[in-house]
Amino acid sequence: MIIDQYTQGYGVIGNPIGHSLSPLIQNTAFREKGINAVYLAWEITDLKACMMGVRSLGIRGLSVTIPFKSDIIPLLDEVDGLAERIGAVNTVVNHKGLLKGYNTDAVGALRALEEKADISGNKVIIVGAGGAARAIGFILKQKGLEIFIANRSVDRGIELSRSLDCEFVRLDNLSDVQGDIIINTTPAGMSPKIDLSPVSEKAFREGMIAMDIIYNPGRTRFLDMAEKRGCIIINGIPMFIYQGAEQFRMWTGLDAPIETMTRAVEKALA
Ligand code: NAP
Repeated sequence: MIIDQYTQGYGVIGNPIGHSLSPLIQNTAFREKGINAVYLAWEITDLKACMMGVRSLGIRGLSVTIPFKSDIIPLLDEVDGLAERIGAVNTVVNHKGLLKGYNTDAVGALRALEEKADISGNKVIIVGAGGAARAIGFILKQKGLEIFIANRSVDRGIELSRSLDCEFVRLDNLSDVQGDIIINTTPAGMSPKIDLSPVSEKAFREGMIAMDIIYNPGRTRFLDMAEKRGCIIINGIPMFIYQGAEQFRMWTGLDAPIETMTRAVEKALA
């Protein structure tokens, strides 16, 4: 691909950002679709200054990651209804100078679950109470599923369960719930601390769906334990690909090349 005066700029902002595979999937997609654009990773400290830069340089789109997903909201011109209700933006689209925020984490997680099973009427245990838990809890609640929030710090867990109007459960009482789905939304088990898991093996029961939204490593301790207990497992790669594919569609109006993006991530993680 030739970078020239017409090349459009995109990127991910966060801190830290060194672990991000977003540049890999988005540049793979731009290349495959023949779009004259580049996607970079920016580790930033001053969000306000960054957003002035985005406006003045005409950056066409951003992915937003930890710790800026909530702080970016007042710096945008408009926020989509779903992102506003979740309280987190992970995508910015520059519509001819007007910056609008969206949340694609929620639909990414939902698609990853729904392609594996019919989840209607299921009971879901969400482990964690941060931004990802909020996005996933919100969309699953909207689908009519029964949600339970489990979190290391009880206060934060109760706060999220109240805002989702669902129950809080202690991490050591998960087997009491008899859930159909359990989702790890915490970073416990993420590379390099791959020996961690936020729950013990008692949290899993046969036939349950266990999803970990961590994608590095592709097989976490959480998923290992789940598989040994007879669960259907889903790692963080599908959610990561689908949230990125939705961003690509919003920026370009085109369907993302999901298979090529997935192959690129699997190769990078191998
Ligand atoms: P966050 O807002 O910082 O929340 C982190 C949550 O994890 C908190 O509830 C925290 O509990 C809990 N936690 C942290 N360390 C823990 C440990 N050692 N044991 C038990 N609980 C622990 O983070 P986030 O934005 O929700 O992101 C969480 C993870 O999701 C990250 O690993 C991120 O990379 C991943 N993610 C993946 C995708 C994807 O597409 N696959 C998308 C978004 C996020 P306390 O309240 O007790 O501190």
